[in-house]
Amino acid sequence: MHKIADHLTKVRQRIAHACQNCQRSTDDVLLLAVSKTKPSDAIRNAHSNGQNDFGENYLQEALDKQEQLSDLSLNWHFIGPIQSNKTRSISSHFDWVHSVDRLKIAQRLNDQRPDSLPKLNICLQVNLDDEASKSGFVLADLESAAEQITQLPRLELRGLMAIPAKCNGFSAQLKSLQRLQQAFTQLNQKGYKLDTLSMGMSNDLEAAIAAGSTMVRVGTDIFGAREPNTNPKTTD
Ligand SMILES: *Cc1c(COP(=O)(O)O)cnc(C)c1O
Repeated sequence: MHKIADHLTKVRQRIAHACQNCQRSTDDVLLLAVSKTKPSDAIRNAHSNGQNDFGENYLQEALDKQEQLSDLSLNWHFIGPIQSNKTRSISSHFDWVHSVDRLKIAQRLNDQRPDSLPKLNICLQVNLDDEASKSGFVLADLESAAEQITQLPRLELRGLMAIPAKCNGFSAQLKSLQRLQQAFTQLNQKGYKLDTLSMGMSNDLEAAIAAGSTMVRVGTDIFGAREPNTNPKTTD
């Protein structure tokens, strides 16, 4: 477990170095620690080393950990696939949802966000490479989605999120991530006030920062590899 502190230090150094290389301020890139499949003790450990934002993919698993960590003040980000029968719980237990992938989900999160809580921060998930296996808006539909979602009073549209198709090498990664950056810039030119570009994971955080990422979502390089067969997807 003491490794988490070292891993966090290394990831923060990578972020600082990547920012330096493109003359950005480290303050403009938030590190989201992706804790899916990892126990609440790992989160507690990361928090004691200065980490406040955590990303989770599986609702029931996240709720269990939130309960175990209710003595801490953490920011919770939902980043996994969303089934519509889970929106009520997601809208009341998270500060952010990065994986809004269709209008119906946005509408439900809006309608179900408790009045006692501030607006729910959301990102639209973009299917950058038109992959059948991935959810998300295609680039061509983004503007009309943004137009409709900004009308919803209980949501705050903050930006865009993507999980690009796997590719290796800085320049190939950069090229793909820049397509999300371009969509982000275009929406802002149309008058949307987006401030969040949620992209970059353990393998491509340098390229993501070069492409303007403001939030990198790092799991493996903080908490270690995930066991493929302990993936609790089926219990969600
Ligand atoms: C698991 C996951 C991550 C973290 O990926 P790593 O490669 O482990 O850093 C980031 N974003 C999303 C949406 C994920 O599901």
